[in-house]
Amino acid sequence: MPVPRFRTTLAITVFTAGALAVSARAAAPHRVLPGETLWSIAAANNFTTRTIAAFNGLSVDSAVYAGQTIQIPTDAEGAAALASAGVASGSSSTSATAEASHTVTPGESLWSIAGANSLSPGSLAADNGLSADSLLIIGQTINVPASSGSTSTTGTTSIGAPPPQEHPYWTSPIYCPLCPSGEAYLASNAAAAWDAMRQASQRVYGIDLYPGGPFSAYRSYAQQLYLYNLYLSGQGNLAAAPGTSSHEYGYALDLADPSMRTVVDEIGANYGWAKTEAPDEWWHVNYVGP
Ligand SMILES: [Zn+2]
Repeated sequence: MPVPRFRTTLAITVFTAGALAVSARAAAPHRVLPGETLWSIAAANNFTTRTIAAFNGLSVDSAVYAGQTIQIPTDAEGAAALASAGVASGSSSTSATAEASHTVTPGESLWSIAGANSLSPGSLAADNGLSADSLLIIGQTINVPASSGSTSTTGTTSIGAPPPQEHPYWTSPIYCPLCPSGEAYLASNAAAAWDAMRQASQRVYGIDLYPGGPFSAYRSYAQQLYLYNLYLSGQGNLAAAPGTSSHEYGYALDLADPSMRTVVDEIGANYGWAKTEAPDEWWHVNYVGP
C-alpha cells in the first residue's frame, strides 16, 4: 500500500519542478499599476532599473503609466540587453559616471539626500528612475551620482532647482516629518479639518497621517510649474498645468503611505476629506468641505 502513494507524491513533485523551470525561461509581461515606477518594478523583480530599461528599449528616467506593459526579462536576457546597450552588467564600477549607493534612513527624502550631495532633487530622481515627488522607503537604495556636471550626463532637459516652500497668509501649517522644514501647508479650513482627522486616526487606528514631502500639500504656482516641466520633459509623473491643480488652492494632499489612504476612506467623510480626484493616484486625497 505505501508504494503507490510514494509514486503519486514523486510524480507531483517532478511535475511542479518542471513547470517552474519552464516558466523561468521566458520573459514575462507586467502590467503597470498606479504608483509604480520603472525603479519599483525593477526592484520588485531583483533587477536594476538600467536592466529593465534596456530590455524594454527605454531610458532609465522614462516615466511609465498605469496600464502600460513592461517586459520582465530572465537573468540571461537582462544581462544580454545590458551588454547590447553598452552597459557592463553586475557592476557599476566600469560605468563612466562615478556613483555611490545610499541606503535611505528614517526621515530622509529625495530633497534631503540631493541637498546633502549638492544635487538637484530632479536630477537625483531621474538618475534613479523616479519622479521628483516620489516617496522613499526606509532601507531603499538610492544611486547618488558624482555631483559635478551630473545633470548634463544623461542628456535630459535641466529643469533647475525646485522652488522653495512658501507660506501664504490663507494657509496653515500641518505636520510633515518628510519636509525639510517639518511642516507643509493647507488652506486654513482644510488644515483644521486635517488636524482633527489626524487626531482621530491616531486614536482609533494608531496611524499617523502626513504628506509625502514638500510638494505633497499646498504648492505655489512656481512649484506646480516645476512639476509640470518635469512631467513635460519625461522626468516626472503626470502633473496638472499650473493654475489648474487643487494643490495650488491648498485643498489636496498626497499621502505618504497607502495605510493612510485606508483611514481617509474610512473616516474622511466626517472631516470633509475624500478621494474625488486623480483616480490613478492612490496617494492624492482632497478637501471637499463639510
Ligand atoms: Zn496630488
